[in-house]
Amino acid sequence: MPETFFAEMKRYVRFGAEDEASLRALGPHAAPHFVRIAEEFYQQLEQHPEARAVFSGPEQVERLKRTLCTWMQVLLEGPWDEAYHELRTRIGRMHVKVALPQRYMFGAMNLIRASLIEIAQKAYPDQESARVRSVWALSKILDLELAIMLETYREAFVEKVQQLERLEKSLLERRLAISEARYEEIVESAQALIVTFHRDGSIALFNRRCEEVTGLPRDDAAGRNFCGLMIGARDHESVRALCSDLLAGRHVEPYEGSVPSEAGPSRRVRWHFTTLPSPGDPLLCAIGVDVTEEHDLALRSRRAERLAALGTMAAGLAHEIRNPLNAAHLQLKVLERRLARPDPEAAREAAALVSSELGRLALLVQEFLLFARPQPLRLQSADLRATTEEVLALLLPEAESAGVALALEPGSEVRAEFDDERIKQVIHNLVRNAIEAAGGKGHVRLRVGADGDVAQVEVEDDGPGLPGGDAPIFEPFFTTKPGGTGLGLAIVHRIVGDHGGRVAVDSRPRRTSFVVHLPLRRA
Ligand code: ADP
Ligand code: MG
Repeated sequence: MPETFFAEMKRYVRFGAEDEASLRALGPHAAPHFVRIAEEFYQQLEQHPEARAVFSGPEQVERLKRTLCTWMQVLLEGPWDEAYHELRTRIGRMHVKVALPQRYMFGAMNLIRASLIEIAQKAYPDQESARVRSVWALSKILDLELAIMLETYREAFVEKVQQLERLEKSLLERRLAISEARYEEIVESAQALIVTFHRDGSIALFNRRCEEVTGLPRDDAAGRNFCGLMIGARDHESVRALCSDLLAGRHVEPYEGSVPSEAGPSRRVRWHFTTLPSPGDPLLCAIGVDVTEEHDLALRSRRAERLAALGTMAAGLAHEIRNPLNAAHLQLKVLERRLARPDPEAAREAAALVSSELGRLALLVQEFLLFARPQPLRLQSADLRATTEEVLALLLPEAESAGVALALEPGSEVRAEFDDERIKQVIHNLVRNAIEAAGGKGHVRLRVGADGDVAQVEVEDDGPGLPGGDAPIFEPFFTTKPGGTGLGLAIVHRIVGDHGGRVAVDSRPRRTSFVVHLPLRRA
């Protein structure tokens, strides 16, 4: 059995049988003074307002005086055992209960100490050793009493602190519960889809809107993979890459895609990703905005726009086709009449005209198809200068027969990523326009270069310049030429746009320049 507090304290101050005997011997000498001492004791206490404040009235003080007499009697009589300790502790707890400040307890004990020592000194006037032993024993037992009293104060103090801690904890818990409930309410009532998931993709939180969109209760969603549940299979890899970027602290753009649904038609959602602070493993948070309606609207309006453009183009095409068809038809009538007469020369002339008009028709159809049928780009790294040289070689004979000097300014190679066939078409259309504009004795100059991360091809001629300030030269079917299709520049515009580039035009009499800007690399 472990040593008790009282046994330990007695051992500590070496309170033993000799002391017990001394105290018992002193008892009869002291007993006649108990009432006086108790009287003095309370007189002294009552002088201090703070001490007085703990007493309820004279009756209580009278009762306390009697208690103090008994207390002194037991102090000198013993037995100084565990029951003694227990009783003293109870008395100590009373002091704590009435909130007697500790310092008065010390003062009061001192008074008792002085009174009893005085009694001991008077009891043994000629017995020095008995006197000394008696004073010693008193000293020890009163120290023990003080230790017991202090222990009751300490006990109470510890209990107060624990009470406070419990209170604080329950307050914190309540505050936490309230703030948690508040956040939960926000997450639940949000119109956005809110999901949190771990590094491995396993879902931790899945709000009400997510349940509605996927048709899956949250308990079924918990622990399943975010990508597997919320992202279409085609985009799994890119969204996973996006999440790793995010975990590596990089900025990521929102991702938009359809959420597979078990409940009904799938919804289109724009996801914004963030990381959440969390102890240990980081938590990712995806907030999705339902953009289905917005997306459908954009699709519908784009389709409507495309249909309208198609209508305009069909009207233009019909108009363009009617002219050569009429001309060919007319010439065929002429041919018919001339065939009736034996005049082969006149017939040949008419046949040649029919053939030329049909040629125009064929060109029109070919160019129209180039313009109207969008084709996927086949990007590859190539030298833009070499591509330009190839186009130039093809058009040299045409330039020569038109009396136009066609030349490419020398320079080094320009590596870029582009669709070689289609960029050839672009350069071809521009150079052709330039030759047609420059006419006899004119010049067409080409330059190829790069500026920063943009490659450039410039086609310059010294012809009369563009028709009017704001003529819609890039619109399909706009032409100022009798045999023109008006599709050349529309094709240029489309192909360059598909490459992520642009066309700049600068025109004044005797100098017209078209510059094609192409990004060196596609993002
Ligand atoms: P087309 O050559 O069949 O007329 P384009 O689309 O190639 O069709 O050109 C549209 C119009 O733009 C031309 O008819 C012409 O009026 C004008 N244009 C194009 N290039 C030049 C140029 N280098 N100089 C002057 N005008 C030009
Ligand atoms: Mg043209």
